[in-house]
Amino acid sequence: MKDLSKEIKAYALKNALEFGKADPSRILPKLFQHGLEKSEIKEIIPKITATIKEINSLSTAEKEKQYTEYKKLVIIKEEKPHELPELPNVKGAVITRLPPEPSKYLHLGHALSFILNSIYAKRYNGKCLLRFEDANPEKVSQEYVDAILDDIDNYLEIKYESIKYVSEDMPLFYKYAEKIINSDNAYMCFCDREKMQKLRFEGKSCECHKNPIKKNKEEWEKFLEGKYMKGEAILRLKGDMKSKNYVMRDPVIFRAVAEKHFIHGNKYKIWPMYDFYNPIEDSIMGITHILRSNEFETRVELQDYIKDLLKLNKQTIIQYGRFTVIDTTTKGREIRDLIKSGEYIGWDDPRLVTLKALRRRGITKEALYELTNQMGLSKKQVNLDFDMIAAINRKIIDPIANRYSFVKDPVALKIKNRPNLKTIKVPIHPDKKETRTINVDTETIFISKEDFKKFKGKEIRLLHLYNIKLGNKDDSADFVSLENKDIPKINWVSKGVQCTILMPDCSLTTGLAEEAIERLKKGKLLQFERLGFARFDNKKKGVYETWFAHK
Ligand SMILES: [Zn+2]
Repeated sequence: MKDLSKEIKAYALKNALEFGKADPSRILPKLFQHGLEKSEIKEIIPKITATIKEINSLSTAEKEKQYTEYKKLVIIKEEKPHELPELPNVKGAVITRLPPEPSKYLHLGHALSFILNSIYAKRYNGKCLLRFEDANPEKVSQEYVDAILDDIDNYLEIKYESIKYVSEDMPLFYKYAEKIINSDNAYMCFCDREKMQKLRFEGKSCECHKNPIKKNKEEWEKFLEGKYMKGEAILRLKGDMKSKNYVMRDPVIFRAVAEKHFIHGNKYKIWPMYDFYNPIEDSIMGITHILRSNEFETRVELQDYIKDLLKLNKQTIIQYGRFTVIDTTTKGREIRDLIKSGEYIGWDDPRLVTLKALRRRGITKEALYELTNQMGLSKKQVNLDFDMIAAINRKIIDPIANRYSFVKDPVALKIKNRPNLKTIKVPIHPDKKETRTINVDTETIFISKEDFKKFKGKEIRLLHLYNIKLGNKDDSADFVSLENKDIPKINWVSKGVQCTILMPDCSLTTGLAEEAIERLKKGKLLQFERLGFARFDNKKKGVYETWFAHK
């Protein structure tokens, strides 16, 4: 077997520097590029394990130093860009739609769907239309319309051709309902909810099903005028009570709603259900392709049936596997309850994957586009880990986020015999020439309580500054030397500013950040050295508030 010990070391160092600890499963596959044969796997694994053990015990500084030597052995394969497949049935321009219901804030799932629909419209020189599905006065409001527009315009930056509200078409929906009643394909039902559900379950029709068209027409008129309250009457489509697809068992298509609508007030007393207005809108807006997750699967049959009854055009529907994000909820009702109870701070609570939360934490638009590309149109159900979003985002922001020092729970050190240094210059980013100037002509230097406890009595290096020996009991320290040698390096702050980091679990980390963050603009992304990426959110009462993105 070829001697690969140097290559193993190179990848182990690279891996350890990237992830904190080297992982054998990430190193083995790389070795095939260097001539490793499958039959040699057994033999090489103990070597990898031994090397990893050795590397993981090194300090970061030592790993970095050794890696500069071994770096040249690492082969970095060009990653193949992910590409979305071509669409079927393209005849001329592709017209897609973004159909949010303004009853909650958008989350990651909406973003992926909207991005897909906008990418395809662009690819085929078509149009992407924005349609607010505001047909449930009990839930929809202007607040959500505004929030959704803000996310689409200012975060996702999706260009859409026009905006419409489904409620603009109420007279048309009534006209279509009458058409269906006149052709004896719908009936007014007066059964209570429980009875209706029981009969649907058993696959049996209620007595209302037999009523003649004339009676249905009369009752519909009364219904329109608001003579029936919610729960007293509904309009049902004649579907198929024996269908295995429950959605087809005489579904409700109109119901009475007493609540005021945020645009139309009390003008309309009865409102169409989703399965009725949605296919109508897709047809009359001239939509050609619908890209959505397969949670709508069961509705296709019903929506196609409605289109047939009304002689409306059909669209090409492409359904991809729905995904769930682990350890969080995207259900509007659950989120509303968590906010109401005070457990969550709002729709942008960092534990959520609403677009408001992701944006405030510093997840870039580019990361969401790349995630969409990677997920593609796969039919598989995906359980998405936040780490996957973080890994994509890290690649995007690592080259641009400037570095700063942050010290949690600061401990003040009075350094004896400190050298006569006024200021030092430190790179704002390892890949950039630009520097930041730090005033070190101060009585005290702050380090974190955690570092103080860990290294008390020991010699450490204040990163970019000098080496000191920490005292054992009090918070004093002695200057040792300027020499950059291989000892633990820790962050410090001289003249600091009060700073908070809102963590992903919504806990607040407080401490001091270096003065240089005063020059940051609101919304800028940064990296707190040895801690992770964050977004500068706001300055309140002299305190710099940041939101943690990820490590
Ligand atoms: Zn009935």
